[in-house]
Amino acid sequence: MALIVQKYGGTSVGDVNRIKSVAQRVKETYAAGNQVIVVVSARSGVTNELIGRAKSLNPDPDDREMDLLLTVGEQETIALTAMALHALGVPAVSRTGKEAGILTDLAHTRARITSISGGDIKDQLDAGKVVILAGFQGYSPDGQITTLGRGGSDLSAIAISAALNADICQIYTDVDGVYTADPRVVEHASKLSEIAYEEMLELASSGSKVMQNRAVEFAQKFDVVFEVRSSFNNNPGTIVKEEAASMEDVVVSGVALDKNQAKVVVSDLPDHPGTAAELFNALADAGISVDMIVQNIGREGKANMTFTVPRDAINRAEKTVVELFPDEAQGKLFEASDIAKVSVVGVGMRTHTGVAAKLFAALAQAGVNIQLVSTSEIKIAVGIDPKDAEQATRIVHDAFDLGVESS
Ligand code: ADP
Ligand code: ASP
Ligand code: MG
Repeated sequence: MALIVQKYGGTSVGDVNRIKSVAQRVKETYAAGNQVIVVVSARSGVTNELIGRAKSLNPDPDDREMDLLLTVGEQETIALTAMALHALGVPAVSRTGKEAGILTDLAHTRARITSISGGDIKDQLDAGKVVILAGFQGYSPDGQITTLGRGGSDLSAIAISAALNADICQIYTDVDGVYTADPRVVEHASKLSEIAYEEMLELASSGSKVMQNRAVEFAQKFDVVFEVRSSFNNNPGTIVKEEAASMEDVVVSGVALDKNQAKVVVSDLPDHPGTAAELFNALADAGISVDMIVQNIGREGKANMTFTVPRDAINRAEKTVVELFPDEAQGKLFEASDIAKVSVVGVGMRTHTGVAAKLFAALAQAGVNIQLVSTSEIKIAVGIDPKDAEQATRIVHDAFDLGVESS
């Protein structure tokens, strides 16, 4: 008898018919003699709708109230999924994050898991029940409901798999695996049969929302092998696991696109030690994560600094810069605008050269101007005009021969 964790995302539980079909799949897994924990998201669109409603009442809603509001979405689906299973004659019981003992820190809307007791989940499984767990939610030491960041149901599934030592963790979504690029952007993207944690983490952190990046990080840390697959068919999915030696033979595994970035240019900064520290300390204190950074060569004692932030942090970033440099001679906000980021990722980059050259040449040939560049050991990312984003993703994907026809 295996312990199987199955996570169903928003589209997979999007309406009552989808919930019925999830219940059917769970029933089959259960009837085959397995213990099953089902982690569910809110119906697709519900979380966004709730955020919209909150912001229509208050542009800067309180984080604690926000968490209370957003967890409503998952609470609806656990109850409905349990009811659908009951209708199929499967004994099932739902549990909230708090009931499952998913303890987090106090950081509402982006809480980190600190420990998982599992509550009575083990007992319920041993008593022959399927347990339906609300994704995306936990509770803080002071008993408040918290959420784990957008896409956080992935993390709930990985974390409960680690805590209860599950044999299999399956992430069911609306695509049948991890592709070489978002199949909605690159039609002929090809499905990967397996991918290393590190590559999945870079892709997820670079905009591939098929998995939440924090969930991948957690999986890597606790060695949770998982499979991304479709709830709409029975195709084999993509296995995400520790890197195997053969994976380095492939130079580029995938291309990611992130259209939710913004670029900030601060000009006339004094070109001496300490300026960058002062600027980025202020941004860090404001809770803003900075991604790409470029500083131009100073002239006449002044330099410009360009960096990117998540688009929803742009107002806070602007405010931070303006407050930090009230005297414009010491640095002034020159520009803040949307930017798209295209990243190529592959563990093979560690041992192969020429990836940047090929990437830049492909973009140049297509007339796409590169505004910023950043690299890691297994990633090269470029910041470009958002109007070029999709076309650039397709061009880069083709340049590295990642398409179905050529692979
Ligand atoms: P869920 O609601 O199941 O969590 P998401 O919408 O969060 O699903 O993630 C699935 C989506 O991720 C897909 O519909 C696809 O458009 C997008 N996606 C982005 N990059 C990739 C990729 N490399 N491979 C597969 N899907 C991707
Ligand atoms: N419902 C949450 C969100 O939309 C969590 C999730 O779907 O994973 O972000
Ligand atoms: Mg998701």
